[in-house]
Amino acid sequence: MSEHYKFNPNPKCEYFPCHKGVPEEEFNCLFCYCPLYLLGEECGGNFSYASGIKDCSGCTKPHDKDSYDFIMSKMHLIFRRQD
Ligand code: SF4
Repeated sequence: MSEHYKFNPNPKCEYFPCHKGVPEEEFNCLFCYCPLYLLGEECGGNFSYASGIKDCSGCTKPHDKDSYDFIMSKMHLIFRRQD
């Protein structure tokens, strides 16, 4: 496997795995705090709302095996906001 920079598991973390639905051997901790949160409804993830607050507890997008490519595909939306 190449492109090791895309996958950074941390099984020694006391919260690992912090989300259900991703096999532990595929669980990517690189985006522990999702950089797409600030995009609100544009993030493309599986969020819900709890008491009016965006709730990402059911989303595995930053942690699954395609997480790096997914996050990078959305970064242009963050940069656009900083113009
Ligand atoms: S964790 Fe999922 S729902 Fe929450 S901001 Fe990231 S992609 Fe969107």
